[in-house]
Amino acid sequence: MSDKAKFQAIKGVRDILPPESALWNRVEQTAREVFATFGFVEIRLPILEQRELFDRSIGGETDIVSKEMYGIASPLLVIKGMLLGESKFPGLKRDSSEYLRFLMSLSAFLVVARDALQSKELGAQNERSIHELDHAFQAGLTHFPNADPSRESERQQLRKDVGELVSRIEVEDLSLRPEATASVVRAYIEHGMQMLPGNVKLYYMGPMFRRERPQKGRYRQFYQIGAEVLGSSDAPGIDAEVIEMLMMLFERLNLKGAVLNINSIGDKNCRPAYVEKLRAELQKVREHLGEDSKRRIETNPLRVLDSKLESEQGIIANLPRIADHLCRDCRAHYDEVKRQLGLRGIAYQENWRLVRGLDYYMRTTFEITAPGLGSQNAVCGGGRYDGLVELLGGPATTKGIGFAIGTDRLVLSLQEAGEGETPGGLAGKAGGLDVYLAWFGAAAQSAAIGLAGRLRDAGFVVELPAVEMKFGKSLGLADRLKARHAVIVGDDELAAGVVTVKRLSDGTQQKLGEQELFSYLRAVQSAGD
Ligand code: ATP
Ligand code: MG
Repeated sequence: MSDKAKFQAIKGVRDILPPESALWNRVEQTAREVFATFGFVEIRLPILEQRELFDRSIGGETDIVSKEMYGIASPLLVIKGMLLGESKFPGLKRDSSEYLRFLMSLSAFLVVARDALQSKELGAQNERSIHELDHAFQAGLTHFPNADPSRESERQQLRKDVGELVSRIEVEDLSLRPEATASVVRAYIEHGMQMLPGNVKLYYMGPMFRRERPQKGRYRQFYQIGAEVLGSSDAPGIDAEVIEMLMMLFERLNLKGAVLNINSIGDKNCRPAYVEKLRAELQKVREHLGEDSKRRIETNPLRVLDSKLESEQGIIANLPRIADHLCRDCRAHYDEVKRQLGLRGIAYQENWRLVRGLDYYMRTTFEITAPGLGSQNAVCGGGRYDGLVELLGGPATTKGIGFAIGTDRLVLSLQEAGEGETPGGLAGKAGGLDVYLAWFGAAAQSAAIGLAGRLRDAGFVVELPAVEMKFGKSLGLADRLKARHAVIVGDDELAAGVVTVKRLSDGTQQKLGEQELFSYLRAVQSAGD
């Protein structure tokens, strides 16, 4: 990059600028207030986690884990991956250059690994494996000269041995989080929160990262506000209350046209049989499906139901429905969730095609859509994940349910409805300048500094010029900053013990003592002027 190159935000990430940031603050602040009334407390989580945490919880076959995660690539990790790939090479080609490449990767790995041992990036427990790899490398060099066909089986054995040794070396493999439920559960287990009384109710907010194709409402760095309930109970009333909390937040934010979709996707007793049935039916229509769905027949048949592909809609309509295959317990749970929503006066739509792109969900799943977002219209997704705590090494008795709101999309939808533009009201004090404090002369500056401090203490938004300006220029700036008042302090005012207050909307001005100034500003403020 040349010296003069301009920097730009990278693809799929963006700056959130004022005045839009005021709307973000309102959304986040309202969430804090509403969640607090339901007894939720905030957890602040790291953005970096071990990749394995997401592999295990979200599922290796999901889009998120298989192609959207941002890993942190250390040289050691990259070469380790390469070696593991090459050690599995089936050896069909008796090609000396191929074998040479393998040996070169091994040698590069050894160089980097020895450095990493020394700098303690690699733990001492790896020393032995690295030593053995060293021997393997020597053997590879001396015992296996160029592509001698009779030595092929020995070369294969060497690759296998190297593969095994390399896979044993514990290289740090980190990832930017693509979502936060896994982190909440990790923290819950790590800090023994199962010892806490009652259900543990946590909320979080912050950025998530997924390498997706950027478009309206879909970014590579996006934000979520989420909440989780963890504890020994899976009572349907918990599911309903979590949804109630969400709907209350949306109502408080004046989000119009939000639609709640719900479904039950069964549990480990009934879902596997349904998935097999679905798979069998999908096999029959395989030829009429798109590439993604074809692949998902094997990897994740439920996700086919989620397809937006026009040509598949007719086929999907005729597929077996999970609702007809729920076991007794899941059916009863789902019926009770719906009854509990009814008790709370919450309207919902049942959507049998609603599945989620993460493996850990079971039973209750839900999604909320909002207007103004085009095809990215889901502002919130959530559901129950009773097996997740156990899967990540915690107690088998801990159940969980939660949701994540896409803050970017929520803000977009509010903006589309004109909610971002209410002057003053939304932005609150931070948006409006109450006082531009113009001073003229050194003595006035010191008086103005004191006055600015007292005004700010009282909660007024004050702009104090850092350097002295000519009268006209100073008052012009007050106008352009859209200050409500210019408060002028000059030698005359100092001598008389007053300030001149000019209302900038109509130019009227008056001289006031400090007490009168405060009373006047308070009166203006409470009149909502
Ligand atoms: P979608 O179907 O829209 O891809 P998802 O099922 O991947 O969403 P979840 O992982 O359930 O989404 O995340 C919950 C919410 O986070 C979504 O409903 C959405 O509002 C938001 N979200 C997910 N991915 C993105 C993204 N790349 N950019 C902006 N918001 C997102
Ligand atoms: Mg997605």
